[in-house]
Amino acid sequence: MKNIYGLTLEDMQEYFLGIGSKKFHANQLFSWLYEKRIESYSEITDIKKEVIEQIKRDYSIDRLKIVDVQNDIDVSKYLFELEDSEHIEAVLMRHDYGNSICISSEVGCNMGCKFCESGRRKKVRNLETYEMVLQILMIEKLIGERISHVVVMGIGEPFDNYDNLLKFFKIINDPKGLAIGSRHITVSTCGLVPKILEFSDFPLQINLAISLHAPNNELRNKIMPINKVYPLEELIPAIKKYLAKTNRRVTFEYILLKDINDTEKCANELCKLVKGINCYVNLIPYNETNNLGFLRSNTVQIMKFYDILKKNNIGVTIRREFGTNISAACGQLRSKKEEL
Ligand code: SAH
Repeated sequence: MKNIYGLTLEDMQEYFLGIGSKKFHANQLFSWLYEKRIESYSEITDIKKEVIEQIKRDYSIDRLKIVDVQNDIDVSKYLFELEDSEHIEAVLMRHDYGNSICISSEVGCNMGCKFCESGRRKKVRNLETYEMVLQILMIEKLIGERISHVVVMGIGEPFDNYDNLLKFFKIINDPKGLAIGSRHITVSTCGLVPKILEFSDFPLQINLAISLHAPNNELRNKIMPINKVYPLEELIPAIKKYLAKTNRRVTFEYILLKDINDTEKCANELCKLVKGINCYVNLIPYNETNNLGFLRSNTVQIMKFYDILKKNNIGVTIRREFGTNISAACGQLRSKKEEL
């Protein structure tokens, strides 16, 4: 059965018209779901009984199960169980500017990045829109606080689940939905070129992050197989086109892997690659996972890398680390669960 949290306001309007009812019920229902936060249709008081009965037959209002929570300073990690017993995870980070959540977009992932825990399990299926919305809604309920920032950087490649993702953005951005400002929403992709181009036409001003992780094809091919499909000579022009259309600055994510992509040569090459692009580079200290054989760069090397970018006038930050103690890096929680 379909779930009510997967409908945008527009979808809901169409639905009500389709069942011969009133379009404005969509506003009412949205407000029950996202302002009053009902958990059962029986709480609705301003829509006729017969119409409610019809909604009940068409859409479930069921939530997901949270089956594990782990807390560390400023970070909590939630393991969700889906209706088909699959598991996904979301991570909540407390910043001084508000609560930010990292959500998953797929069960498993097909991108196969060598350093990433999520890719150890092939994609089983896309997450439905409601499964993305509910990660936010349920964590807000559990902590009794609002979430102000959303990043789609959990398990999965969001651009490989494009249609559900866009619906999700519409629902969480809608002033009558979760009302999260588009500039507070970020989506990260490993570089699916056709979708980057398509995304430049999406009307909401959502931040785009690109997992770059290597400054040349030879190295990128080794650690990110997707580069063989969309090599840098296609990825970089696509990003430039995206920039020309949207005028929004992009983020390049660059994980620092010891002796692999953290050399001064790589730093200089990276500068050349991104020079002239309206971007900043987010250097990510690698969160070591048990079985993948990559090591994190030491702090001296990270700082050397950082300085080279700075000297070349590239906007650069080093990601503040959350959750290394509770293995919150991509897919690590789910992996642990499945090892049990
Ligand atoms: N598939 C998307 C989004 C999910 S991954 C993408 O590739 O962008 C989100 C980010 O976390 C990516 O930049 C990914 O490369 C990075 N990542 C994966 N494993 C990591 C680890 N162990 N430590 C630090 N970052 C990691």
